[in-house]
Amino acid sequence: MIDYQNILNTINQSVRQEKDKGKIASYIPELANVDINNFGVHLQLISGEQYAVGNSQQLFSIQSISKVLSLALAMSQMGTAIWKRLDVEPSGNPFNHLSLLELEKGLPRNPFINSGAIVIADILVSNLENPKTDFLNYVRDITGDNSINYNLKVTQSEKETGFKNYAAANLLKSFNNLNNDVEVVLDFYFHQCALEMSCAQLSKAFYLFANKGECLASKGRLTKSQAKRINAIMLTCGFYDEAGEFAFEVGLPGKSGVGGGIVALLPNEFVISVWSPGLNERGNSKLGMQALEQFTTLANQSIF
Ligand code: GLN
Repeated sequence: MIDYQNILNTINQSVRQEKDKGKIASYIPELANVDINNFGVHLQLISGEQYAVGNSQQLFSIQSISKVLSLALAMSQMGTAIWKRLDVEPSGNPFNHLSLLELEKGLPRNPFINSGAIVIADILVSNLENPKTDFLNYVRDITGDNSINYNLKVTQSEKETGFKNYAAANLLKSFNNLNNDVEVVLDFYFHQCALEMSCAQLSKAFYLFANKGECLASKGRLTKSQAKRINAIMLTCGFYDEAGEFAFEVGLPGKSGVGGGIVALLPNEFVISVWSPGLNERGNSKLGMQALEQFTTLANQSIF
């Protein structure tokens, strides 16, 4: 038996001693109002047991972690048709990079860079009756938690400063890869990124990816094959130009967000969520990555 609580306590002690905690994202001004000393971990085993340490129940802005949930909803609604509009190759570039999108004629490299997530947002806006409400209900449903909500201050803050996302959406539109109005699609995208969740809630939301498409809270939402494919994209594209480093150091599929959260999972075994708001130069949680490296090393569990 692995003593998970002991491992989490060890990680908590070592990570909290770090002097360099990275830098809080300030390009979305509202995100800067967070204490850099927050650190939390929540581990959800597929068998049902849970372990936690630190600020694991505190809400934070999940940002790009939401791109996995929007992809899951789009795949479950539209199946493989979505892959006509975007690819599944790592980009090797920052999440908001634009020149590759122009070079590749408006076909985003993958659904986890911003341009790809904006195409997924466009697909959901076309297919959902009440896009923002329906997406929120989907997340609440797979998590089994009706308290989850958007932080509208974060939505507004990003709307006022999201120039690169406006540029990406306009480029997509110029290549006929955006069916709805730029404003409408970005309004949805800025809402999805502004979802607020805790590590504990994120572990539950991501349970289905580790459990062959079956949720902890409700009936199956994805096919086994869809869950497998989403995990593959997390492994290859979940950390932008740091996807290689994450696979090398941690060895799990996962997804980060500029709010400082990271969710990672080992299929059939567990989901682990960490939060530390300070980011490294590539926009991924600095101590979060460190904590996950320690976790897979101490627990001796990774996909490799
Ligand atoms: N909402 C953020 C943006 O579009 C998401 C980026 C991220 O978390 N990497 O810039």
